[in-house]
Parts: sequence; structure tokens; C-alpha cells
Amino acid sequence: MAIIEAALSAAAAAARPVVFSAARRAVSLSCAAYKFAASSGGDIEDSPPPPPPRGSLLARFRDRRALAVTDITATEWCEKQMEFVLEHGRPERTQAMKAGSERHAQLEQEVIERADVTVRSLEELWAVKFMNFIMGANQLMLEGITRELPVIGLVEGSWMTGVIDELRMPPDAISLHPILVDTKTRFKPTVPSEAQKRNGRLQVMCYKYLWDNLIGEKFPADNFFSYFDLDPSYLLSDDIKQFIRFSGLNAKTFEDVVKYFKVTCHTLARSQEQLLLRYELQADNSLLEEYQFSYDAGWFKDQIQEVLSFWRGSREPRYVSEEERWKCSFCKFANNCPLNASTSRCC
Ligand code: SF4
Repeated sequence: MAIIEAALSAAAAAARPVVFSAARRAVSLSCAAYKFAASSGGDIEDSPPPPPPRGSLLARFRDRRALAVTDITATEWCEKQMEFVLEHGRPERTQAMKAGSERHAQLEQEVIERADVTVRSLEELWAVKFMNFIMGANQLMLEGITRELPVIGLVEGSWMTGVIDELRMPPDAISLHPILVDTKTRFKPTVPSEAQKRNGRLQVMCYKYLWDNLIGEKFPADNFFSYFDLDPSYLLSDDIKQFIRFSGLNAKTFEDVVKYFKVTCHTLARSQEQLLLRYELQADNSLLEEYQFSYDAGWFKDQIQEVLSFWRGSREPRYVSEEERWKCSFCKFANNCPLNASTSRCC
């Protein structure tokens, strides 16, 4: 898998020609001119929001930025909790969350070798992300598997980004339609609840929608440049150009990279309708359950519209349902949640 997080000096690149391989990709971003982003969480998408128009959380917290797939799933989990996170920041990560991240890093290292590339602008950041997609797609076709593949697209009129956990080609080698897989880790050796599975289904369906849309639709480049305020004629740095040359491509401007990205998308096939969630035990990585399910376009659209109506400020956030009040026991905002004030039973 690959992740272009950005900082590969020319010397480091020469020392690690593995990045050149189409079957290996990854770049870690170290942003020379984006220290502000690193200090606020390391990702440019975490930069401070502009003054908000009243009502729309999208405008307040994601202006000129995309919604992440994790925003969608966190909202589906509990809208009120999502609002707390936006207003007050994410609570500290638990040990179980850290263990999950470590397992994903381990899975990533099985197929991806990271390299560092320095990016000096948003254009270069996106160029690296698109190159990670291109290299990941090449790896999928050549090796039959890739991990941590960045995807982007318009979903119901809103830009959305995500990182696909895993794509693998079918073992029969007949179909060219890749299988989308997401691995979740669990602290206890129990099977996931229906609420957890539903949340996982939504996540993987987001990835399928984004992947299939990239493959089947014309990437709306003009909208992309305009929405994210990017200059297509931006001249890439020598470091970025060298990194791109490792992939056998020759790009001078940001728009060149976007063109390669679009061409790559049109060489790929839609993903399979059957999607896969894997649940592993954190203690020993043993498999607890493999859960296969079908993509449901109608259900997905309904879910996305519900989530977006919250983000667009069309209505007040909802609390968890009566059946899912157990979620409140794990919520860091439970003491401040109005649901607790209105009932003595919660949390
Ligand atoms: S306490 Fe329950 S309803 Fe309130 S924010 Fe947390 S999970 Fe949501």
C-alpha cells in the first residue's frame, strides 16, 4: 500500500528506488510550507476552518475541504457525538484504537513501502495523493492486491475522500472486477453488533461508490480545481517530478498529474457487488468473522442523504436510538450530552 505523505529528498529517493516500482508505492507527506497543518494534526485537511455561516456544518468545518468517509461513518454512529467532536475536538484515542491503527500499519507494510516526499503546496499534496492512487492501481493489476488506496469523488453534490483499506483481485483470475475489503480489529473476542456491522457496511459502500465513480464517470476536474482552490498550471517541484518519474511518468504541472490520474481510472474495472468486512482479534490477529454483503445502492443513497442533511444544517442532530443507547456508555461526551439531562437511564 502506499501513502504519499510527502518528504522524499532527491537523495533519499535515489537511495530508495523501490518507489519507482509500479508494484510498490507510498509516500509520506512532510510539508515544508505547511507546518501549520502538521501542528494541527498533520493533515492539511485539518487546517482551521474559516468563520462559519450559521447552520451548515459543512461550511463551518469543511469549507474548501472534502468530507472524509470517516466523517460519514462517525455521523451515522451518532450525529450528536459528531457535533461534539466538531465543536470540541476529538477525544483522546483509546488503547484499542491505537492497537487498531498499529494492525493497519502492519497490514499496509505487507504490500507497501513508504517513502517520504516534501510537498510545498496543496497542489503538490494532491499530486502525491493522485500518484499514490496511480501506483496503487498498478500494484493491484500487477500483484493482485493493494492497500490504503486514496479515493476522491462527488457524492450527492459534496466532495468526499477516503482511503480504501484493501482491494484484491478475485482468486479465479477470470474477473477483472476487484473486491473491496475492510479489516476491523476488536479488543474482545466477540462478534460485532448489528450497529457496528451497519456502520462498516456504510463505510465500505462509500469506498465502492467512490471507486466505481472514478472508473465509470468523467472526473470533474474543473469542479475539483475550483472547489479546492487549486491552480492546474502549478509547476511541480523537482522532488515531486522525480518521484513521479519513478513511476515512469513525466509531469511538469499539477494538471499533468490529474490527466494521468484520469487516464488510469479509465483503465480499471468497477468493483464487485459483494463487499467484505473482516473482524480480527487484536490480541493475536486471529479472524473472528468474515462478513460478506451486497452493495445496496438505494440504502446507500438514503444513508448519505441523511448524513448530508445533518452536515448541511437542514435539521438538528439526532441522538442514538433507544435500541442503541449502549453506545452512550462508550461516549466521551456522555456527561455533556443533553440526552442524559432528559433521562436518568442514559450512561
Ligand atoms: S451520549 Fe449517546 S446520544 Fe449523547 S453524544 Fe454520546 S453517543 Fe450520542
